[in-house]
Amino acid sequence: PAGRPFQVLILMSRTGGGHLASARALEAELVRQRPDCKVTIVDMLTDHLAFPFSRMPATYDTVVNRTPRVWHAMWRMTALSPVARPTAAVVRRLSRARLEALVRTTQPDLVISVHPLVNDLMVPVLRRIAPHSRYVTVVTDLGGIHPSWLHRQNDAVYLPTPKAIDIALRRGLSRERLHALGLPVRADFARAPADRAETRRAFGLDPDLPAILVMGGGGGIGPIAAIAEAISAALVPAGNASPAAQVAVVCAGNAKLKAELDASWWPIPVTALGYVDRMSDLMGACDLLVTKAGPGTIAEASIRGLPMILYGYIPGQEAANVDHVVDAGAGLFEPDVHRLGAEAARLMTTERERLAAMAEASRRLGRPEATREIVASILGAA
Ligand code: UDP
Repeated sequence: PAGRPFQVLILMSRTGGGHLASARALEAELVRQRPDCKVTIVDMLTDHLAFPFSRMPATYDTVVNRTPRVWHAMWRMTALSPVARPTAAVVRRLSRARLEALVRTTQPDLVISVHPLVNDLMVPVLRRIAPHSRYVTVVTDLGGIHPSWLHRQNDAVYLPTPKAIDIALRRGLSRERLHALGLPVRADFARAPADRAETRRAFGLDPDLPAILVMGGGGGIGPIAAIAEAISAALVPAGNASPAAQVAVVCAGNAKLKAELDASWWPIPVTALGYVDRMSDLMGACDLLVTKAGPGTIAEASIRGLPMILYGYIPGQEAANVDHVVDAGAGLFEPDVHRLGAEAARLMTTERERLAAMAEASRRLGRPEATREIVASILGAA
């Protein structure tokens, strides 16, 4: 009927920070390109599954960080269809009333999934009670595309790279439904970053000193304090010389880490930051990124042409992100904190040419237009 908004339902879950970030980026761009869109973002696993499945996202961070081997086993097991299919069928049956209610109340014209675990649960329900709705998936992993991303009844799947398309083809999806346009990141990244010196000042950094940015995803997770120590120790200047670089640490939600860094004495300037909104400007004002292999962080850093040292990854979904960066020459993988410190110091001093080459390679991986192109493609077909 005339005047009815175009209803879009985005399915995500708060396992890590990346899925919500992608959902919000898509929402903003959908409304920009089609103002009659009404977008609803739901944490489908937490809010629309039956207990105890609804508790899964809340335990994700603990399992991933405290018992990574258990997580890896779960990730691999759920990649096997004899395990995944019956499991999904059970969860779907027990959650059926809730999933149907979600579809009935939102009446979506278009459903966009940005999470691997929602597809097997929602697609059969949607096909049964709202067969005219389109269902598309926007994959928010860079390399290790878990099979649950690739439901065969997707109308379209948006993948990060041509390599990911090959994986989807091997899984039996048809080529005309597959698109490789990059990872959806916030609209800020499609614009030029703010002036470097001004950004550094705004974040309390030295405006004239090259900067190493240290990050551990949305949770500020990993051996971040030890990394900051190793880097600063390796960059201590000889005699009265001034240091070659400073360090900015994004502690994000990790208040304990920020307090610890604030209370420490540092031989070179080290600035601990809380949660950063202006990530696109901050990345634009730094010269090297030290991070875990989170897909969102890597995609953003590439857009800013930041070379990377990856100190770790979540086993399972993030392992292939390391290859994505290292194979392209955009960065290094170094899990040993002391070697990482020495490597970072060399890149900022005697190996500036190598740093510049890595920066170029990183920029070649960047897809600043990804969100705009993905949304244009989704709406074009709708
Ligand atoms: N992020 C941010 N501000 C912060 C810390 C992180 O905006 O203070 C963003 C970061 O830019 C990225 C996302 O949080 O977009 C983290 O996603 P990623 O996929 O790298 O890791 P996850 O947290 O999902 O494991």
